[in-house]
Amino acid sequence: MDYNLSDEHLMLKDQVRKFCDIELAPKAQELDETQEFPWGVYQKAGQLGLVGSYLPAEYGGAGGDLFSKAIIYEEFVRACFGFNLSLNAADLLFCNNVNKHGTEDQKKKYLPPICRGEVLGCWCLTEPGSGSDALSIKSSCVKDGDYFILNGQKTFITNAPEAQYFVMLTREPGSKRMEGGTAFILERGMKGLSTGKKFNKMGGRCSPTGEVFMEDLRVHQDYVLGAPGRAFHQMFASLDVERSLTPFSSIGIAQAALEVATKYALERAQFGKPIAEYQLIQEKLARIATGVEMARTFAYKVVWMVMNGKKVTKEAAMIKYYASRMVQHAVHDGLQVFGGYGYMKEYPIERYYRDARMLEIGAGTTEIQKVIIARELFREFK
Ligand SMILES: Cc1cc2nc3c(=O)[nH]c(=O)nc-3n(C[C@H](O)[C@H](O)[C@H](O)COP(=O)(O)OP(=O)(O)OC[C@H]3O[C@@H](n4cnc5c(N)ncnc54)[C@H](O)[C@@H]3O)c2cc1C
Repeated sequence: MDYNLSDEHLMLKDQVRKFCDIELAPKAQELDETQEFPWGVYQKAGQLGLVGSYLPAEYGGAGGDLFSKAIIYEEFVRACFGFNLSLNAADLLFCNNVNKHGTEDQKKKYLPPICRGEVLGCWCLTEPGSGSDALSIKSSCVKDGDYFILNGQKTFITNAPEAQYFVMLTREPGSKRMEGGTAFILERGMKGLSTGKKFNKMGGRCSPTGEVFMEDLRVHQDYVLGAPGRAFHQMFASLDVERSLTPFSSIGIAQAALEVATKYALERAQFGKPIAEYQLIQEKLARIATGVEMARTFAYKVVWMVMNGKKVTKEAAMIKYYASRMVQHAVHDGLQVFGGYGYMKEYPIERYYRDARMLEIGAGTTEIQKVIIARELFREFK
């Protein structure tokens, strides 16, 4: 096994780190306060090939592998979790689904503007009454000649308030569970499609989150994404890429927490010497550092498995569960190192603490990851 990233990957990491240090990290605190999505940074990232980096060049991507995407992902999160949350909903949730299941025309139309950082896309599954039990969605599609009539409501949708494109999950009335699901690509401005105002969130605050409403939305069948009635089968089949990358949110925040806490411990003196010299402080830093390294190593293994066509249902749930718990300890211990200053907004650890909380909720809660792991274990033992 080769655990080293290639020279090309290391150069990319260096390039993204520099970009983030100049363009993103200095703005992160202000973005958290204003809750504004940094469109300018997104456009610059698009110009540098950092949006849709893993997508084929013919659709505007940089044609990179998933390791490259993981590197970009972690670096963006390390600088500003909210920015990556939105970028990710656009170039992974929206684009990966269109790239996997879309027609040639759909790919040519929808992927390049996102890769250029011009528009945001979003992926709409969750509804007010349907979260962890994703197959219980009620948003409906009724066939009417060459058209479909859509009705329903979505909530907690990343980018919804500012997105141009929407992947919309619906089902045929009367259908149940895996059957009868149909996905559509919708565009802002379509009659019957509207979005609510931006939610005021605890963390990831520069990423706009909101509701989507469909009221007798009449859409031509050309806007169906993938095979009608097969949306849930397709969704589960293409989840691996998203699931393998999600843990890099936890790793990026924990890495940032480790860096600021270590620096602070070396600078802050109490009882006549730097607090870094106290073993109770060292224990916290050692624990954060170990957690980050363990999570990163396993996360890259899961990405490698996806790149090599292996099934990762259990492993992706394991790393999502492990990394999102790890980061809770990391930001807790990291903030403790700062004492009272950690509770103030002057230091970024306060933001990391809030940002991290979402990682046990979004993309499948911690409880659901454990349910998946147990289910896969039972399958192996049967
Ligand atoms: C910031 C943010 C961004 C998001 N972005 C998107 C997006 O872009 N698109 C999208 O479609 N969705 C998005 N979501 C929604 C997210 O995926 C859901 O919030 C998540 O799946 C949980 O659903 P829920 O909030 O309805 O909680 P519920 O499913 O109601 O869960 C409530 C609690 O019950 C627990 N629980 C539920 N079922 C079980 C069970 N079987 N066993 C044990 N415990 C259980 C849960 O773990 C949780 O602790 C986003 C959410 C947030 C917070």
